Amino acid sequence: MKYVLVTGGVVSGLGKGVTASSIGLLLKACGLRVTSMKIDPYLNTDAGTMSPVEHGEVYVLDDGGEVDLDLGNYERFLDIKLTRDNNITTGKIYQDVINKERRGDYLGKTVQVVPHITDAIQDWIERVAHVPVDGTSGPADVCVIELGGTIGDIESMPFIEALGQFSYRVGADNFCLVHVSLVPVLNVVGEQKTKPTQHSVRGLRCLGLTPHVIACRSTTALEENVKTKLSQFCHVQKENIITLYDVSNIWHIPLLLRDQKAHDAILKVLNLQGITREPELEQWTTMAECCDMLHEPVRIAIVGKYTSLSDAYLSIQKALVHASVARGKKLFVDWVPAGDLESTTAKENPDAYKAAWKLLKGADGILVPGGFGDRGVQGKVLAAKYAREQKIPFLGICLGMQVAVIEFARSVLGLQDANSTEFDPDTKNPCVIFMPEGSKTHMGGTMRLGSRRTYFQSTDCKSAKLYGNKRFVDERHRHRYEVNPDMRMEIVELRNHPYFIGVQFHPEYKSRPAKPSALFLGLIAAACGQLDAL
Ligand code: GLN
Repeated sequence: MKYVLVTGGVVSGLGKGVTASSIGLLLKACGLRVTSMKIDPYLNTDAGTMSPVEHGEVYVLDDGGEVDLDLGNYERFLDIKLTRDNNITTGKIYQDVINKERRGDYLGKTVQVVPHITDAIQDWIERVAHVPVDGTSGPADVCVIELGGTIGDIESMPFIEALGQFSYRVGADNFCLVHVSLVPVLNVVGEQKTKPTQHSVRGLRCLGLTPHVIACRSTTALEENVKTKLSQFCHVQKENIITLYDVSNIWHIPLLLRDQKAHDAILKVLNLQGITREPELEQWTTMAECCDMLHEPVRIAIVGKYTSLSDAYLSIQKALVHASVARGKKLFVDWVPAGDLESTTAKENPDAYKAAWKLLKGADGILVPGGFGDRGVQGKVLAAKYAREQKIPFLGICLGMQVAVIEFARSVLGLQDANSTEFDPDTKNPCVIFMPEGSKTHMGGTMRLGSRRTYFQSTDCKSAKLYGNKRFVDERHRHRYEVNPDMRMEIVELRNHPYFIGVQFHPEYKSRPAKPSALFLGLIAAACGQLDAL
């Protein structure tokens, strides 16, 4: 087993996840079996209890793992399915060690960060890396490990120490460190500055890790002399200094790495020079180029509560892009803060109210995503009502489907106080209720989570057709409330409407660049008046 560790320096938000995924893709295109892992040094057991506005979306896996959004990048780039164990957190490691301590595994010993925590980290990495890769019979040849955060963070110290030890455990030929850094240009002098990268590499070395490849984020390609300088000061061969300059869409990143022969640099460190297959990446080249050439717009309004951070809806955005590219349209997303559509905003902040409605009314399609808590729910109900009455293509996901049901009960069935018991426990018309198997005392991992099967009772509906008239579909879930827990209502659809679909599950998690989600494809096609063409 070979390991590629990806670390980040200077600042956060460099796109380490996309870089790590692209490296994985490149190695896969060389004919290797690749898996990946993400280390998040926070104390939460998993991402499930964290705010999407702080940390971006919670990505959900088939096995119900609520994980960091980077696992979504890996699944989309590598087209594999990962498990909850592929996301390591400080919380999981400490829990593991504390459980062992209580069991008496370390009887008589003082339990310490070194060696107990550091051993637990290494054992975890080795165990998970050796699990057979989804869709194949054997383990991966290469495991790409991304270490979250930035070199120097206090909370990642035990992981750095563990990874330093790990490089010795597995041997120099089996361990390659790619450090992602930043080369800024200061306006005053207009020169690409190498000092921040030099400092972060020095930081890495002080902690016992030596980079083999440095991937530099920059606005434009690195100049030759800048590469030479970095090579000299960071003790990394010049051909191993890769430049990741700004590109028009992320599908160019694997191509950028390939063009600079990043795979050769990595394969050499890993003593895999025997792998001579050139990574073609034909499909990615087509998608990257196609995406740049699109000009006919399609506007989708996302009416959500966490619109201040677009990463909060990352998989939804990706799924919309996959579908738009497949339909040959250039996607424009209009972020509509759900609360701004409400009448209280009309009084308190009329400009925001007007702006929100203008965006909603200008959209070709409306998407109401999932969410928790009652802030903005009324705004989402109003968006569903507008879409239903004005016959605007609508896709409601999870909470988005629940508000569509509430809206229908209120406006069409005349049940004025229809609500979800999540927002009004005393409503006389609870049309969305707490599921019997849920827990109200424990929040972590207690929802209905992961892949569940939905059977179509009729194929005479748009969703069944979009899913290719299959008898059932497997999609991922993450919810505590439901429309009818006895019947497990998973999909709602309106007749006599161009496209009005709500789903209890989250189709966005399984959308892939070359295999767009059926329901997103339906939304985009309907928004462009092309649904019949599907
Ligand atoms: N809050 C709702 C529930 O728990 C919807 C969840 C979601 O949209 N993911 O059922």
